Amino acid sequence: MNIHEYQAKQLFEKFGVASPKGIVASTAEEAGAAAREIGGPGLVVKAQVHAGGRGKGTFKNGFKGGVHVVNTPEEAQDIAGKMLGQTLVTHQTGPEGKLVSKVLIAKAVDITKEYYFAILFDRGTSSHAIIASTEGGMNIEEVAEKTPEKISKEFVNPAIGLQPYQCRKIAASLNLRGPQMNQAVKLFSALWNLYLKADCSLVEINPLAITTDGQVVALDAKFNFDDNALYRQKDVTAMRDTTEEDPREVAASEFGLNYIGLDGNIACLVNGAGLAMSTMDIIKFHGGEPANFLDVGGGATKEQVTAAFKIILGDPKVEGILVNIFGGIMDCDIIANGIIAAAKEVSLNIPLVVRLEGNNVEAGKATLAASGLKITGASDLTDAAQKIVAAVKAA
Ligand code: ADP
Ligand code: MG
Repeated sequence: MNIHEYQAKQLFEKFGVASPKGIVASTAEEAGAAAREIGGPGLVVKAQVHAGGRGKGTFKNGFKGGVHVVNTPEEAQDIAGKMLGQTLVTHQTGPEGKLVSKVLIAKAVDITKEYYFAILFDRGTSSHAIIASTEGGMNIEEVAEKTPEKISKEFVNPAIGLQPYQCRKIAASLNLRGPQMNQAVKLFSALWNLYLKADCSLVEINPLAITTDGQVVALDAKFNFDDNALYRQKDVTAMRDTTEEDPREVAASEFGLNYIGLDGNIACLVNGAGLAMSTMDIIKFHGGEPANFLDVGGGATKEQVTAAFKIILGDPKVEGILVNIFGGIMDCDIIANGIIAAAKEVSLNIPLVVRLEGNNVEAGKATLAASGLKITGASDLTDAAQKIVAAVKAA
């Protein structure tokens, strides 16, 4: 799960991470009032969307920049009015862009240098990784590719936690000295504490800035949270903004389905994450493109299968469906009934290939055969993938 920058600022405040004061606004008038409360000169208006690269982004109506530094509250109100209700396109939003329904008004600071700082899970080393760079404010992927020597990493043993010497080492790698090193160490420790307590999987500050009056402050914030820990993070869960998420994934999460939307046209409905991965692989192997990853789980109910099927059918990109079930715990007849229930509610007019195997398979096959639905049966994974790819190409 992700949150907006203005929400990240609330967490900063709670955990003592230095960052300029900010107020969120949904209308130009609110933005003006927020700007007067913070007080000029020197304000920044920032579009609130779940995507980075806002500064260099362009609105669909041609207005340039999702981050503007202005002088007066009047200007802040004017700029906010130009952003709100408009769609911002950045290198992270995709060409469809994201609708801006909130802006953050924050105190602008005079920046002398911008750095990059992040804490994240590192599965490769089974630890947490701290990534820092003197090349902040810009595209870190590009820095990593072109000048990897400008990125320093420090790994944190999860059993021990981030140690003060590691904070000093990172600060030294950014050439920070004296009082600035002390401020940076304090900020890193506060961020680490926040990362751990809020069950984050990523905290990215780009830029972390040094101001002309020598302060070390976080100017941007991108957060990801570990979804498996959300049950114990009520405050974080309350920050969820489903309008920023893929509507297919939002619907799937309501039914406890593991669904990830992809760009292809062949939808998959599978039980078990490993089988779902192999199903996507074999579709690609036979020249098709999967429209989604979908694992209905080992013990899905008929309601979940129906919901899953409806999510798939509601996706305009989908031109064919492959159901691949290996009934270990799953009863094949439940799948069959779920498919039929969904097909009754949403008309099924695209090819459907079903491969069923395992627990109660005969009953499942009989149920499907008796339904009158147009279904192509398949004997194994290869057969199933070949049939759905061919059917979609023919249609
Ligand atoms: P994004 O990464 O989405 O473009 P940022 O929050 O990083 O958005 O803002 C882009 C740039 O705007 C920053 O690199 C920084 O130079 C400037 N900026 C952002 N917030 C402030 C602020 N409070 N004061 C001054 N400049 C800012
Ligand atoms: Mg940024």
